Amino acid sequence: MPIIKKLNSTVIDQIAAGEVVERPASVVKEMVENAIDAGATEIEVWIEDGGIRSIEVIDNGCGISKDQLHLSVESHATSKLGKSEDLEAIASLGFRGEALASIAAVSRFSITSWPKEQNRAASLKVTFGKKGDVLDAAGAYGTHIKVEDIFAELPARRKFLKKPGTEASHAISWAERLALAHIGIGFKFYSNKKMVFQCAASDSVDQRCAVFFGEKVARDMVFLKKKMPTISLEAKIGPPETARRNAKHVHLYLNGRWVRDARLLRAVREGVREFIPHQFYPVLFLSLEVPPSSVDVNVHPQKSEVRFREEGLVFGSIVRLLRKTLSEASWATRTAGSIGQEMKSNAVNTMGQPTFISQQQVLHSDSAKPITSFEDTLGTQNFLAVRNTFLFREVEGGVEIIDQHALHERVNLEELRKEIKEGDILIQPLLVPSLVELSRAEVLQLDERREDFLKIGVDVSAFGETTLAINGIPARLKRIDPESIVQDLLELLNQTSPLSPEQIQEEMLFSMSCRGAVMAGDTLSEDALRSLLKRGGDLPQDRTCAHGRPVRVFLSYEDLEKAFYRR
Ligand code: ADP
Ligand code: MG
Repeated sequence: MPIIKKLNSTVIDQIAAGEVVERPASVVKEMVENAIDAGATEIEVWIEDGGIRSIEVIDNGCGISKDQLHLSVESHATSKLGKSEDLEAIASLGFRGEALASIAAVSRFSITSWPKEQNRAASLKVTFGKKGDVLDAAGAYGTHIKVEDIFAELPARRKFLKKPGTEASHAISWAERLALAHIGIGFKFYSNKKMVFQCAASDSVDQRCAVFFGEKVARDMVFLKKKMPTISLEAKIGPPETARRNAKHVHLYLNGRWVRDARLLRAVREGVREFIPHQFYPVLFLSLEVPPSSVDVNVHPQKSEVRFREEGLVFGSIVRLLRKTLSEASWATRTAGSIGQEMKSNAVNTMGQPTFISQQQVLHSDSAKPITSFEDTLGTQNFLAVRNTFLFREVEGGVEIIDQHALHERVNLEELRKEIKEGDILIQPLLVPSLVELSRAEVLQLDERREDFLKIGVDVSAFGETTLAINGIPARLKRIDPESIVQDLLELLNQTSPLSPEQIQEEMLFSMSCRGAVMAGDTLSEDALRSLLKRGGDLPQDRTCAHGRPVRVFLSYEDLEKAFYRR
């Protein structure tokens, strides 16, 4: 019969280390966070061989007194939390008291610390969990920790380490994430004795963005800052042409903590979806400050996921503010030109309206002229319709090209959104209900949500066990195929991670706007065209379609002259 015994503390710490210390980068993260919590204003990180050989973090923070030094490497020992109520409002980055104990359990660890109040430094060595004595030492004010030979005595974990270069890049990413949000602290990072990055304690947000995203991107980023009673939000968002297919350059912070929270990321995507191409993520720095009591950070061992007490409020504000800021961004409208030149411009026209800015493969001219409003020319102007898709017209300073589908999609989206918001969406009853054959489960599923769908102008009801009747559709969307609405609804209802009724409503808004729009290639009558342009002119924003593609592109005289080598 097997015998049950209590594990000794070294083994316990080595097991716990599995959660906290995944790789050298986690050590860098935990130790830099400790330095930040200690109030340091200068932090240096040195790694050798990606941190596999050694990691050193040196700070000028408050230090640890000699008589407490042995406690710093005990598990569940922390200076940041006293009683269980403190868990309700965590203001520091650390609080679990596990990091140093875990790191010391899986490495050759040494800590030297000198708090100003003490007359000299003290140090302590721990070798794979075996603690030495606390000794007097030489040093500087603050704390210096060295971690060597990580996992060397734990072959099962060591073999999961990647090549030094890969480990180094993970470690650098963590240091960057922390440095980006902690303005006021100077950082220096060295890998194999070579400097990787440094930033000064005196930096502004812009300067930090320039260090981590590059100067050009940082210059073109739009800035958002808003203080509300219970949340404040600060963000810098990069232009569409710098967007990526992955979220690597999305940096979300909650009370100074870098987080990678799926729902927060979703709110961000929602906020930028009309301005950044479909399935892309912007370069983004977004920092949220909420009262510590309104968020729970104790839901993930590495603290990268969070729970908000008032989730709807927080996410709603993010979506709204991102949308508003982006719709006013100078690059929300594109200019076009000939090949290969870079964009540069934050031009604003005399009306204070942002002007055009060029996209990839596009030539920019400083003479980019403001949008001529549609009304100015509606009555008289001639349009050239090319392939029943692109409408060309002359505007002040050059030529404008409009994508008829993108414009119609934007018109639909804005008009529907307004009607839904005001709760008076007009439903057009179908003379003969459209009948769709579905499975029993699907009919039930849709019939159950009838009320929700009515709010977005879609009237469906069960017509038999396996038949669904579509009785009405949004009156604005004359071109929409009713059955396509049902297909989209089913797809949304059956997503792997369930959507809230609001999310379904929002998704439907986008898909109906697109499906209800004239297509590229559709022939439009003169009247239909002018009415579309008129509706476009009345919108709060008509520069991108619902998927973030441009509605209008501008070619300046200068662009044309360059194309013909007249310049
Ligand atoms: P936590 O950060 O969750 O409290 P750690 O294991 O990371 O747990 O650290 C344990 C304790 O050691 C901290 O609470 C803090 O008092 C002290 N400590 C760790 N690193 C530093 C540092 N760089 N400067 C000052 N104190 C530190
Ligand atoms: Mg810590």
